[in-house]
Formats: sequence, C-alpha cells, structure tokens
Amino acid sequence: MSTMSLFRQKLKIVLPVKIILAMAFLDGLSFFSRAQVRDTFMPLPAGAVHLHGYLENDLENSLAHWNMGVVPYGGFVDIFRKGRSFFAEGEMWGKAVRSGSMFYRYTHDSTLKKILQSTVSDLLSTRRANGSISASAISKQPDGPGGDLWERTYVLLGLEDYYTEVSKDPKVLQAMIDEADNVLAETGPAPKVSITDQGWSPNHIESSTILEPMMRLYKLTGYKRYLDFARYVVQTGGAKGYNIIEEAFSNEAPYKIGGPYPKAYEMMSLFEGLTEYYRATGNDHWKQAIMNLYQNIRTKEITIIGNGGGDQPYHPDVYGEAWDNTALEQTNPDIKRMMETCAGVTWMKLCSQILRLTGDPSTVDDIEKYIYNGLTGAMKPGGDGFSYVNLLNGVKTNPQGWGGRIDGVDVTCCNLNGPMGLAYIPFVAVMNSVAGPVINLYNAGTAAFLTPAQHEARLDIETGYPASGTVLIKVMPSSAERFTIRLRIPSWSKATVLKVNGKKQAVSPGTYKELDRSWSPGDKIELTLDMRCRILHAPHGSNRAGDHFVALVRGPVVLARDENIDAHYNQPVHILSKDGYVKVKPVKPSLPTTRLQFLVPTKQGSMMMVDYASVNNWNGKHICTWLPEAP
Ligand SMILES: [Zn+2]
Repeated sequence: MSTMSLFRQKLKIVLPVKIILAMAFLDGLSFFSRAQVRDTFMPLPAGAVHLHGYLENDLENSLAHWNMGVVPYGGFVDIFRKGRSFFAEGEMWGKAVRSGSMFYRYTHDSTLKKILQSTVSDLLSTRRANGSISASAISKQPDGPGGDLWERTYVLLGLEDYYTEVSKDPKVLQAMIDEADNVLAETGPAPKVSITDQGWSPNHIESSTILEPMMRLYKLTGYKRYLDFARYVVQTGGAKGYNIIEEAFSNEAPYKIGGPYPKAYEMMSLFEGLTEYYRATGNDHWKQAIMNLYQNIRTKEITIIGNGGGDQPYHPDVYGEAWDNTALEQTNPDIKRMMETCAGVTWMKLCSQILRLTGDPSTVDDIEKYIYNGLTGAMKPGGDGFSYVNLLNGVKTNPQGWGGRIDGVDVTCCNLNGPMGLAYIPFVAVMNSVAGPVINLYNAGTAAFLTPAQHEARLDIETGYPASGTVLIKVMPSSAERFTIRLRIPSWSKATVLKVNGKKQAVSPGTYKELDRSWSPGDKIELTLDMRCRILHAPHGSNRAGDHFVALVRGPVVLARDENIDAHYNQPVHILSKDGYVKVKPVKPSLPTTRLQFLVPTKQGSMMMVDYASVNNWNGKHICTWLPEAP
C-alpha cells in the first residue's frame, strides 16, 4: 500500500464533510470508491457515447417532450411542501430527476442542466427542521402507510444521480447526508421503528429498497453508519415476514417469493441495492442470491418482448405488477394486465448491474430484447409518457395505474421510469474493461474510450441495425496499440460472419468475441449478424386448451400483426417455415410511424407484419404478437 493510499485510508475514518467535499472536487471521488469487488466492465465516462440511427429519435423524443417538456417539476416539489394527497406521491420528483440526470450524462445539454439545477434548489428549500426532505410532517415520520421511506429512496436516488452526473454541489451532498441520517435516527433495530413495519404493500418490501441509495451514499462519503444500516436492511431480509434475499438464494420461483404479492419492480430494486452491497462487502453469498434471482427471472418470468409480471393466474388483484410465472403464462388469454414499464426498466437496470459485475453477455441479450420491443413499444408516440402495462395480444398500451394529475399532467410511475430506460441505452451500449472496450449494443453511434495504456481512442459504429444485420466498426486509436475489443455475439445469431480488415474470425453465439491484437487507426471490423426470421412456439402455461401459438422474431425485433393495417390481424394462420426460419421480405411500411414491415409467407397467402414496438395502439386498435395457428 502506498503512502498516499495509507493517508487516504486514515482520512476515511475521521473525514469531516468539508474535507470530503474538497476532495470530491479534486478528483470526482474516484479514489473514494470503497469497493471490495472490482467490476468486470465499467461504464464509459459521461458524454463518451453518442447514438444515432435507429434509436436516436426515441431518446430525443422522450427527452424533449418528457424531461424537458411536460414534467411538472414545481408540482412535484410542492408535494414535499404541502404533503401528499395519496400514498407514495413523493416518489415522483426523484424519478424525474434521476432520468433527467442520466440524460444529462448523455447529452450535456445546458438547458437540461438549468432545469435540473433549478428544481434541485427548489427541493432543497423544502427541508424540514429535522433535516428531512419528506412529504410527511415531522410528527408523522416515519410515515408507513404514506410511503415515506419509499419516497425518500427516490429523493436520495434523484439527488445522487444529480450529484454524480450534473453538479458536485456541496449543498446537495449535505442534504443527502441529512436525509439519510434522519432515516437512521428513526428507523432501524429496536427500539427504533423496524423498516419492515413501514410501507403500504402487504410485505412492505418497498421500504427496504432504500438499500441502494444508502449504499451509494456510503460510497460517496465513506460513512460507516450507512454501511451498518445497509447491513441491517440485508439481515432483515427486505420484507415483513419473508426473507426475500434468502428465498432468492434458495432458488425459489420469483412468483412465490415474498408471500402473496411478489412485486416485480420493488424486488428488483432491492437487488440493485444488494449488488452495491456485494461490491462493498465482497461476500459471495449475496452475489449468489443476485445471480439466482437473475437466472430465475430470465427463465421463468421474461416474455418474448423482454419484460415480465402479470395478473393471471396467480395474482389477480395486483394490477399486473407481480411476478406471475409470466414466461410460461404469456399466452394465457385471461391476462388483462402484464409487464409494467417500471418492472421492465428495473430489469434492464438490474441486468446492467450484473453485466458490470460479471461480464455475462446474456444480460445484454436481455437488455436488448427489452429495448427494441417492450421499452420503445411502450412509449407514447409524442414522447410525453409511457404505457403502464403492456399486452402481447389485444390493446398493447394501457396508461391506467398508480398516479395522479399534477399541474394538469397525468403522471404515473411508468411515465417517470420509462425515460430512465431510454437514458440507460447509451450507458450500456459500449463499456470499457482493463483489457479494452466492450461493444454491447449495435445501434449506430460513436464511443470514445481510453485504451489500457490510457490513450484516447474512438469506435465508429456504422449500421442500420436492427433493420440490417451488417455492422461496420472503425477502430480509431490515436496510434497503434495492442488491446482487446470485445464484441457481443447475440445468442440468437447462429450464423455470424466476422471479419477484421477482411480476415475471417471464428465466433460462437451467446459469447463475447475477444479480438486481442494491435489496433491501428482505420482498422475495420465487419460483423454480419444472422437476421433470418425465427419462428417460436408458445410455451404451454396453465390455461391453454390445446391451441397453439407462434411468434416471429427477426434479430432482436419481435414482429406483430397490426390492426391499423390488417383487419384480419387476429385470425389463425399457418406460417410457412423451414428448420425454424421464415423467409420474410422487407417492404416499405404502410404507415409513416412504422419502422419495419415485412411480407410473411403463409399457407393462406402473404400477410404483413411489423415491428412490435412501432405499432400504435393508443388509438384503441389491437395487436397480435402470439399468432393463433390454423390447424
Ligand atoms: Zn409503474
């Protein structure tokens, strides 16, 4: 250990806030990282990735019309001044500010910065005499049924993302410390109020999601009391009467974890916090619990469009927000609500945490599946919000759910979380590692990175993906240098062609291809992914009376029949396929808002299918994704 690190080690123990703040300015807190576990992959710095091509408009549309458009920041802050009018209403501010801050990480847009600075300063003016930022009066804190702790989770997450990505304002750090210390003063081991006695849901799991912001604040400050509180949350098990973490560790099916209401979104939020706790403690037990839950969700819950949870058959009364053995049940005709946008976005975030920890490419298969189908398929055409739940067959989008009208704007949890999913796309698209850059997503774009020798370099990704499967990557180091470029080969791409400067390379699906060589400016990687259209047979759930359904997927894109262009959209068909593939023919879309359209061969003649995401059902029209098979 060097003298300097010994010095820092000592500093950690006694550091007053002022010195922490001074050091924060010096080096962006990087040496303050208390991680015991080194991540396999690291995000690139703010502003390093720029996306254009297929997804560019989705990001811009959401940012312009939600975070920089209709979001009623003043109304959100007033909830802390005047009190909430319904439970959990105080979550709204933090959710809007964290997605705004993640978008700022991507765009560095000065107008967005002003909006965020102004609302953060407004929020800080609501601090109560005991240091809390809370929608509950001090005499009512901690306010269980109101959702006080859940709301404060989002106050902290919003402030943390703002502090990390937008402005290292010492007042913001102090406000987070005061908020967290106030939670510690009121909540904890007896005689304090138990965290599992706080909340509105049957097992109160939502209160324990404060684990994530507590761990992030521990990383920012080094204050042991936050790690101690995190340990308390983890040992308590995350819910009243159920140890969620140990149930996950024991490979319990997600739809049975936590008793009568295995709430998908909150469960994954808790495990996002557990990944931070694992990083700080290095205890493999927690990693195993995370990995077991991840594997069980991806195999038992995630549907063809990359999201999960539903109402039938297991949890009819909870609005489609619970795990439901959804991978198996996804064609169950009794399902009325499934796949909450909050759940999909949190799944994407949990996958990105696991990706950073382990470098497992299957997490990116999951993320990509959600981006190109569930996530972009849930956004309102005007960019000013998201569907709450989503269907595969029926009316795809449905904005009804928890929320309220704030300053004339209909705000739901899903309107607030959808943009966070979009803001995560550039965060995930290209990462770095000690060996060199990692290309996860193939949307067109550029990524600046530092080579292992700390020289500046850039990747230019030119492609129409996922309309096309051909990707050209130009490698632009400042001078020749040996390093490894990792390329994700999607698990669905069974016949991939990869060439480096014209020379063929062997690859296998579901892995990272590691290209370890000396790279010179202008070196070319040509990747041709297997875009043959796959036909999938529906799993047999609990309520399928001998009927059969199939679905078509091309690359990462799920196809669907769209009532807007096809009156027979839900009629049984017999699709002509060979060896699991269907020869679909790209055609010019019938509607200006449709991105991809194909002619699909069936025994009854050709029919049109389009990408699931761009189908517009906000007009009450229907979609058919799992196609009933004609006998
Ligand atoms: Zn939601």
